[in-house]
Amino acid sequence: MRSEFELIARYFERRAKSAVLGVGDDAALVRTSADCDLAISTDMLLEGRHFLPGAEPRALGHKTLAVNLSDMAAMGARPRWATLAIALPADDEAWLAAFTQGLFALAEREGVELIGGDTTRGPLTLAVTIFGEVPRGKALLRSGARPGDDVWVSGELGGAALGLAYLQGRVNPMPDDAREACKRLDEPEARVALGERLIGIAHSAIDVSDGFAADLGHILERSAVGATVSYDALPRPEAFARLKRPDLERRCVLAGGDDYELVFTAAPEARPRLAALGVALGLRLTRVGAIESGAASLRVVDAEGKLVESPGGFDHFRRGA
Ligand code: ADP
Ligand code: MG
Repeated sequence: MRSEFELIARYFERRAKSAVLGVGDDAALVRTSADCDLAISTDMLLEGRHFLPGAEPRALGHKTLAVNLSDMAAMGARPRWATLAIALPADDEAWLAAFTQGLFALAEREGVELIGGDTTRGPLTLAVTIFGEVPRGKALLRSGARPGDDVWVSGELGGAALGLAYLQGRVNPMPDDAREACKRLDEPEARVALGERLIGIAHSAIDVSDGFAADLGHILERSAVGATVSYDALPRPEAFARLKRPDLERRCVLAGGDDYELVFTAAPEARPRLAALGVALGLRLTRVGAIESGAASLRVVDAEGKLVESPGGFDHFRRGA
């Protein structure tokens, strides 16, 4: 059995590239770029709450970092460094090898360095703190939405929730659709490049972790504005058209968590730039509604303008605690 220090050295220590000092000392050292603000965010994943018991460790390593990258994306920040606090029930080296493989593959792809953390025994818990850089004073905030802005969504909504519903035996999509939905759930892609490119274009942004309606709701509250969104315009996987389960579809699209797409607002004048940006990134960007003055409430309407009931998003202290 290896000691805690051997496990750290073997699985978490890498030669520092951009950090002044990485894993191995009492603290890491980083030097931030001039003319940048440091964006800092922490996200925690608990077994049985954020992922199903027995989750495949390589995908879990990917997701642990991806959910944190998504917060950088939502700020328009370039992710640079991360720390990982991990509680492990046992020193299962095959598990650690696969987990760190998933984590480091994504970290290298996104140019993020793991510079420290903490390792302890306990119920499987993963907490990453991520540090990113954003041009000074230019970060994308939840509070910047203005009446008249368009509301935009990247990618597709509801895929991860469909994957979860499938794994829980609540729905039975075609095999290819099920596979794609599970991939959305297990290995989300944070929209980092999009976030960075939205600086100077978007007025506000958030990532969809708790569900579209809930997360757009945060923008509305922080910006003290309302919004009307077209339900039919919301981009979603084609699997839903084949399923013909309209209630489940509505719950997944409006309230499904874990998609890690970006919801953002921008002036109508930005439409051509956003169309070009979507093409440049090979990422679908869809205009789904508009910001209005007035109470911070979201109206989701169908093609006839009738209100679509919008189920709430996930809140750890309201539901299923
Ligand atoms: P300390 O006793 O000072 O807290 P630790 O023994 O906890 O030191 O950690 C030793 C070094 O290993 C530190 O640089 C710490 O940041 C790093 N470290 C510990 N656990 C992890 C981890 N899971 N991922 C990355 N670095 C880690
Ligand atoms: Mg420690």
